[in-house]
Amino acid sequence: MTNLWDERKKALEEDYFRKENKKKLENLKENIVDCEVKTICKDRCPKCGAHIVPMTFQGVPLDRCEDCGGVWLGPNDLIALSQRDAPTWFDKWFKAEELERLEQNK
Ligand SMILES: [Zn+2]
Repeated sequence: MTNLWDERKKALEEDYFRKENKKKLENLKENIVDCEVKTICKDRCPKCGAHIVPMTFQGVPLDRCEDCGGVWLGPNDLIALSQRDAPTWFDKWFKAEELERLEQNK
């Protein structure tokens, strides 16, 4: 004779583990996609996808796309450039952008 409570308990356990496995599988798929995107995009221009090459401008290391001519820099590069020979139009522009950003984040 089967015990209905035992069957119910077993069904609930199986359902729990099925849901847990599904979550783990989805997380694994997301991680794989993230890794693939990072691998594919590494050293590529975010605008056109061509290879970017390192360059130096006023002593600041930047990345330049040989196809579209885009120049890519990180937040520290931007700060370094803005402080190169301040006050320049770049410094004023950068500070205005920063102030605007800070105002929006309040
Ligand atoms: Zn490009």
